[in-house]
Amino acid sequence: MTDQVHAQDNPLTLYNSLTRTKEQFIPQDPSRVTMYNCGPTVYSYAHIGNARAAVVADVLFRVLRHIYGEDHVEYSRNLTDIDDKIIKAAIEQGVDISVITEKYAKIYQDDLKALNCLAPTHEPKATVHIPDMITMISGLIDKGNAYESDGHVFFDVSTYEAYGKLSGNTLDALRGGDRVGEGEVARKRNAADFVLWKPELHGVGWDAPFGRGRPGWHIECSAMAKATLTDGIKGDVIDIHCGGVDLKFPHHENEIAQSCCANEEELFAKYWVHNEFLNMGSEKMSKSLGNVTLVHDLLKEWDGEVIRLALLKAHYRSELNWSEDLLIESKAQLDGWYDLKRKSMAYVREIEIDMPMGSFAKNIWKSIQADLNMPTTLYQFSEIGKALRNALLADIDTTENLNNVRIYLTNTMLKINILGLLQKDPKDWFKGNSSSDEQSDFDAIALRRQEARAAKDWPAADAARDEAKALGIVLEDGPDGTTWRKA
Ligand SMILES: [Zn+2]
Repeated sequence: MTDQVHAQDNPLTLYNSLTRTKEQFIPQDPSRVTMYNCGPTVYSYAHIGNARAAVVADVLFRVLRHIYGEDHVEYSRNLTDIDDKIIKAAIEQGVDISVITEKYAKIYQDDLKALNCLAPTHEPKATVHIPDMITMISGLIDKGNAYESDGHVFFDVSTYEAYGKLSGNTLDALRGGDRVGEGEVARKRNAADFVLWKPELHGVGWDAPFGRGRPGWHIECSAMAKATLTDGIKGDVIDIHCGGVDLKFPHHENEIAQSCCANEEELFAKYWVHNEFLNMGSEKMSKSLGNVTLVHDLLKEWDGEVIRLALLKAHYRSELNWSEDLLIESKAQLDGWYDLKRKSMAYVREIEIDMPMGSFAKNIWKSIQADLNMPTTLYQFSEIGKALRNALLADIDTTENLNNVRIYLTNTMLKINILGLLQKDPKDWFKGNSSSDEQSDFDAIALRRQEARAAKDWPAADAARDEAKALGIVLEDGPDGTTWRKA
């Protein structure tokens, strides 16, 4: 692949939260690049802030697949399907916990699919990996890194010297800060010790050498990352761990402590990639967006690609101010790009994969490789769009213009594909979210205008156009007949 060669000139750089520097990404094994991302606790709908973390990880996954090959990147994102809130909800509703977790896991997966997120290679469920967690906890007890106390097992942070390295916290400054119930402080040796195992709750638990119970949240990720991504032969270090900056402490700090001690490795992940917060509720927030913060609800109003583009508008390491304007702007931009895609496709029917990379595409790729710089990438893509629009307006039949169109299609489209944008057929894009009944009505109106025009019956052609307008669609007459799109 062209970009594999090119990757050597412009290697992928990532900001590593662990070392606090931008580093060239060098996988331990290029034939099996590994990344882990903390998944959702499946008892409710995903918030748009969760979607930002998932979309950032998806772009990274796509970029790695592009560089190392689709079969050489393994991405694991867990489903936390055991949690106090899940147990309580199940009891309230009088159902098995799986009824709740399976419902929300499916909704999460469908919502992310609508945002063009690829399915991860592995999607481990916590309840399936309880034996792995028990093995890890037993190992930590044996090594003296964990201790039992009143039906609980805690990790003893004083046994891990590097504790606090990721978040910059010192042990002295730490005060609990864990998803642990009250009264736990009395059972702990150090305030910062965190729970690995808790007693069963309302009869929900698993048998373990240290008592029947259920896992703490942090140990789940350590066990599942190990179970899905490492084989123990080449070591237990994964290449990349990503997630929202809100998880850095205590969750990721605790994952590092557990994994490094249990696996006897200096590192848990070589690179830590954290995305910044998404800001809600700023003054810019319009009334109509109101309190819509769930991906599931936003998808009722907006195409998934619009939401995805809006989420990519800020650099992943900058805070993103979420507003309705951002969605409106993203929709308009995608309309423009899809229009361009449609017009370009009329000239070049087949994409020529083997074309040399144009300078436009080179610049796009360079921005992507520079710590996934999406704002610059999207700006460059817009500039290409402008140039191409001019080329289309001019005489398309000149060789130079035709070449521009080809280069655009073969290379920049390929690059924008890495971002998971412009994935639809332009025809479908402009049909928006119309139902199939509406679509056949609109098709009929378009056909009426086409036939009227062919018969030079101008009053009938105008009537069809006016009818369309009243229904919120626009008719477009082209060489292949009349088509419609949402206004
Ligand atoms: Zn995690």
